[in-house]
Amino acid sequence: MKIMKFGGTSVGKPERMHQVKDLITKDGEEKIVVLSALSGTTNALVGIGDAMATGNKLKAKELIDQLSLHYDHFITDLLVKTEMQEKAKKVIHEHFDFLNIILKISFNDALNKDILAQGELMSTKLFCLYLEEIGVNHVFLPALDFMAIDSNDEPQVLAIREKLNKTLDAHRGTTLFITQGYICRNAKGEVDNLKRGGSDYSASLIAAAANASVCEIWTDIDGMHNNDPRIVKSTRAIEQLSFDEAAELAYFGAKILHPASIWPAQQFNIPVKLLNTMEPDAKGTLIVKEADSMGVKAVAAKDGIVMIKIKSSRMLLAYGFLRKIFEVFEKYKTSIDMITTSEVAVSVTIDSVLHLDEISKELAPLGELEIIRDQTIVSVVGNKLTQQDGLLTKLFDSLTSIHINMVSYGGSAHNVSILVSTEHRNKTLQLLNKGIFGLD
Ligand code: ASP
Ligand code: MG
Repeated sequence: MKIMKFGGTSVGKPERMHQVKDLITKDGEEKIVVLSALSGTTNALVGIGDAMATGNKLKAKELIDQLSLHYDHFITDLLVKTEMQEKAKKVIHEHFDFLNIILKISFNDALNKDILAQGELMSTKLFCLYLEEIGVNHVFLPALDFMAIDSNDEPQVLAIREKLNKTLDAHRGTTLFITQGYICRNAKGEVDNLKRGGSDYSASLIAAAANASVCEIWTDIDGMHNNDPRIVKSTRAIEQLSFDEAAELAYFGAKILHPASIWPAQQFNIPVKLLNTMEPDAKGTLIVKEADSMGVKAVAAKDGIVMIKIKSSRMLLAYGFLRKIFEVFEKYKTSIDMITTSEVAVSVTIDSVLHLDEISKELAPLGELEIIRDQTIVSVVGNKLTQQDGLLTKLFDSLTSIHINMVSYGGSAHNVSILVSTEHRNKTLQLLNKGIFGLD
């Protein structure tokens, strides 16, 4: 069994869906195909939900109509036969009828999740209708039948496996299954989701649950690159990464893979391949248990970071001080990314400002606080970095013109991170591209 996940841009145009069909019918291997919503749809649904939440029904209605029109055009381009086009329009219109009904009732968070689910529900139905038109045998697996999160919003692979196996068992002999990414049921049985970009996470969970031979993530770029192609001139795809390296990169800014999607594959040891729908023969990136080589593989940047400095003379020779600080962050479910300490001060970074006010208030009695916003973590990721002679010299020599606010080294053998102001992010990535990889 293999898993093939296609992202929004891979299904975002009728001709792309045709390409996806080619890719999934190339061999007769048993597979589960996981689809995202058509590109732009989830953003539009978020907009519809936001408009409803603020009581702006006119705006919500306008967005619903716009989206509906987009699907009408999509259907006419995707399908050839008039009766299939009519059938598809009927199916899709049911989803827009649903959105229009929601418009009339009082809005709440559970309804919002129903709204957000419409994208994946529609993309998979359209794709299955297309397969039906061209006579490709397949079985549609509704993700809401097996993809579940518990009361802590955590998916449990073994629970998913049990449900998934039941559905698969009912279709022995079938080699092609189509299902949705992103959507799931929560502990209350309501429709929920795995957060934005969560289709990768779905694919990895399904791969772990089905004990798949590989989890292929098909996007519009040929794998993970050594640097951000939007910021530096030249980058190269990374051929191989370990799960640990990929986790650091996904978390610290490489947008191509949802960070949570690493753990199910890692825990159940399922290789992950990042591939390009537009260039299916490109090697892409293979992510497996062990790294194939030592040294730096990539740099990545994560914006939206806040640095909090806590300075206190009471920290001098005291114990238990760090615990007190960490407890404040724990209380507000805010995770810390970087931390550095001196004898009288601690600096930490967080990427969520949701509870910053409360956190600041509770930290204030512990020492003098300084809060610095608009920061970026730049991570240098690779294998056994602490054993690399000269890496730090290279790193800091490249960045003599950049003001560095924090450095984190030794936390893991896969990552050296520095904190810079976001206004210096591009320059930092460009200088590191030259200094570490010898690229422009
Ligand atoms: N459609 C969802 C989103 O745009 C999930 C995904 O595509 O991964 O966030
Ligand atoms: Mg994605």
